Amino acid sequence: MGAAIRHFTAIGPGDRVFTVNIERDFRYDPYRDFLVCAHCGWSPSLLTTRRIDAMAWEHLADAHDASRGRAGQENESFRRARWVVLPLCAVLVVALLVFLRS
Ligand SMILES: [Zn+2]
Repeated sequence: MGAAIRHFTAIGPGDRVFTVNIERDFRYDPYRDFLVCAHCGWSPSLLTTRRIDAMAWEHLADAHDASRGRAGQENESFRRARWVVLPLCAVLVVALLVFLRS
């Protein structure tokens, strides 16, 4: 479906690593994010005021008994993409300022 932009992992029984992904579906405008468990198909509604990471940790702990070694990391390619976009935005802002002052 969407692209996984962020992973939440925790270690459960037998040192097994469980992962919940945030998947971003760019087919929508604005895009939509989904929280999807990679192990049991859990995918809650995100129409809530609760923090997404808190929901992910809670699911990992409740459903998979995984509460150790919690780690949230951004998808590698997504992080790289942002490193390209940020400087580009900075350049655009500077160019705009120069343009407005002249
Ligand atoms: Zn699950």
